[in-house]
Amino acid sequence: MSNVELDGLRNRLDEINGQLLELISERAEIVQEIGVVKEKQGVPKFDPEREKQMLDRLVSANKGPFTNATIRSLFKQIFQASLDLQSDEHKKTLLVSRKGHKEDTVVVLPGDITVGGLSSLMVAGPCSIESELQTRTVAAALQKAGVKVMRGGAFKPRTSPYDFQGLGMDGLRILREAANDHGLLTISEIVDPRHIDAALDYVDIIQIGARNMHNFELLKAVGEVNKPVLLKRGLSATLEEFLHAAEYIMSRGNTQVMLIERGIRTYEKWTRNTLDISAVPILKQESHLPVLVDVTHSTGRKDIMLPCAKAALAAGADGIMIEVHPDPATALSDAAQQLNIEEFNTFFTDLKSSGIYRF
Ligand code: PEP
Ligand code: MN
Repeated sequence: MSNVELDGLRNRLDEINGQLLELISERAEIVQEIGVVKEKQGVPKFDPEREKQMLDRLVSANKGPFTNATIRSLFKQIFQASLDLQSDEHKKTLLVSRKGHKEDTVVVLPGDITVGGLSSLMVAGPCSIESELQTRTVAAALQKAGVKVMRGGAFKPRTSPYDFQGLGMDGLRILREAANDHGLLTISEIVDPRHIDAALDYVDIIQIGARNMHNFELLKAVGEVNKPVLLKRGLSATLEEFLHAAEYIMSRGNTQVMLIERGIRTYEKWTRNTLDISAVPILKQESHLPVLVDVTHSTGRKDIMLPCAKAALAAGADGIMIEVHPDPATALSDAAQQLNIEEFNTFFTDLKSSGIYRF
């Protein structure tokens, strides 16, 4: 074959490639339009029956030289790429997604304390509110250490119904009073939609615990209030499920949502849960919401909380949560993993001097 002949054929191929590109791009635009219609109707994007019909029609029109199997596999690739396009489009429509909201969300707490902005947030306090004295002792220590947000559980989701269940509304009142007297903000877990209204006077941030990440009625209910929410990752939730749980809250109008990685269940026994550090940069990439890391419930080990907190901040976390108790050995919950006040002071001083904690 002369070079002239070869060049001629190659030119023809280039033309056909161009036409194919135009056609598959046009096809992709139609697929996107279909995606929007399906999104509105709430019907699934993948329709196996429709895909089968399209493939059968193509195969019966196939005159060769490609085999029917080759035609099927070529078109299946085009169909898959189209579905991927629809799911990218779907992500853009999620309120939690960075695709439709490029800037970081900064949650502004009372006293102009920000989460997700330039500075790191330290949230510390006991696992459970147990008494006025215990709560006030921790509050005083936190104030002295420069902590601004105090945690403390009043409604405790315990594994056993025979374990301490928390002081309920009394616990919230004790937390609020101790926090007020020491210039602190409060965060506490709410487990029942019926408690939300009453809790609003006592908490500055509502915590949704890991066990309730999939409690959609609770998520919807906290989505209706004007109060920041700290949402914990479920015990075995994928990041996609985690973000969709946040979407439940945001879709009801409450945009002040913060995410917190608290470790997931794996086969590893040397930590209480497995701290998924990779969740931090992924959540920051996928979402504009602030991301915190709970080093207490993830590791369950005092000896590695400092390096894990450093790793979390280095990976882009906006804050850390840690449990502190005046006398952990006597704590009514999580006795093994709460720091005493001296241990907390050392932890916080070391973290601040590491250069990773942002002031
Ligand atoms: C808590 O922070 O008090 C708690 C119960 O944690 P988690 O929901 O992550 O288990
Ligand atoms: Mn705890």
